Amino acid sequence: MRYSDEELLGFADTYLAHNYSPFPVFIERGDGCWVWDRNSKKYLDMLSCYSALNFGHLHPRIVLAVLEQLCRVTTVPGCLLTEEKTLFIKELTEFCGMEMVLPMNTGAEAVETALKMARKWGYVKKNIPENEAEIIVLKDNFHGRTITIVSFSTESQYKDNFGPHTPGFKVIPFGDAQALRDAITPNTCAFLVEPIQGEGGINVPPDGYLKECLNICRENNVLFMADEIQTGFSRTGDRFACDYEDVKPDVYILGKALGGGVMPVSAVVSSREIMGVYNPGDHGSTFAGSPLACHVGREALRIHNDEQLSRKAYFMGAYFTNKLKGIKSPHLLKIRGRGLLIGLELTPGSPSAHSFCEKLIDEGILCKEARTDVIRLSPPLTITSEDIYWATDKIEKVLS
Ligand SMILES: *Cc1c(COP(=O)(O)O)cnc(C)c1O
Repeated sequence: MRYSDEELLGFADTYLAHNYSPFPVFIERGDGCWVWDRNSKKYLDMLSCYSALNFGHLHPRIVLAVLEQLCRVTTVPGCLLTEEKTLFIKELTEFCGMEMVLPMNTGAEAVETALKMARKWGYVKKNIPENEAEIIVLKDNFHGRTITIVSFSTESQYKDNFGPHTPGFKVIPFGDAQALRDAITPNTCAFLVEPIQGEGGINVPPDGYLKECLNICRENNVLFMADEIQTGFSRTGDRFACDYEDVKPDVYILGKALGGGVMPVSAVVSSREIMGVYNPGDHGSTFAGSPLACHVGREALRIHNDEQLSRKAYFMGAYFTNKLKGIKSPHLLKIRGRGLLIGLELTPGSPSAHSFCEKLIDEGILCKEARTDVIRLSPPLTITSEDIYWATDKIEKVLS
């Protein structure tokens, strides 16, 4: 017996915590940039799981990597080494032009790992008085959902009723370097920034902002920590979004695409000086750096380079943005973003971005709003110009 969509929706409503309000679509199969629901309706994936699927669904080399490692060994605790883990951290370090890696699983865990590292660095290397370390973060940030991370969110829904909140964070406006200069005190250990804010509405900072913030951090002996979980691995047309301003952060926080779209794989990548503050017993996670995760992560890095995804995202992003600029719609106020991280900002007074996304899903385009007034378009970086052409037509139809 086969349940109907309505019956499954009923089960979801009854048994699944209501922490999302899911679109009423049951995805059954994926291939590249496309997915099919259980009624064989086809959708172009313009969400790519928030950049986890930069390589598309079921990339054959990722699938092969999973199968290879499944036949050897999958899970080994952190107190034992594996060749896969050792080579993964070496290759990721080289990929980032850094010195040391601490692997984790989810993005939020990697952010927590970086925050702990920054605080300890502040105490051990900068001699900040005990329990006085401050970390500067930005308005409209998104770094995950743990208690500490939501403590410094500026989105009331993310944090209300989840207190008491973790102290030690200072929020300043995004895109204003002087605000960073003014906020730094002798107790500031780190500045945490998304080089382009994804969940916050695809907010691109003014040119030169990241570079200036880096210089301010250097002058004040403050760590510049870039959360590139969503923007990294060529989403924005450069290997990292910081590359756009030739900014080399002190700490990269990575996730999403690093797992090839099949495994939660995240990492903190930094210098020996900074990461060296972690001693045996300070930190860890059962599944982090598992040979399965590391084997998949290694293949993801190789595919990224072999398929020249930075170039692809750059050129396809420019092509897509140009096509979108040709759309005439009273609802479309502005197109922003970089590479294949694109936000369509709606005119005030237009229907919500969520309602447009529902219509786009009807038309066969999976997408999701960022905030209430921005439609986020972030397809796999392997998308073709034919697919973009097809999608633009549908987007035009829905917006007009
Ligand atoms: C998705 C995301 C996170 C959190 O990653 P999870 O794997 O969902 O915990 C953190 N930072 C940014 C910028 C993200 O986009």
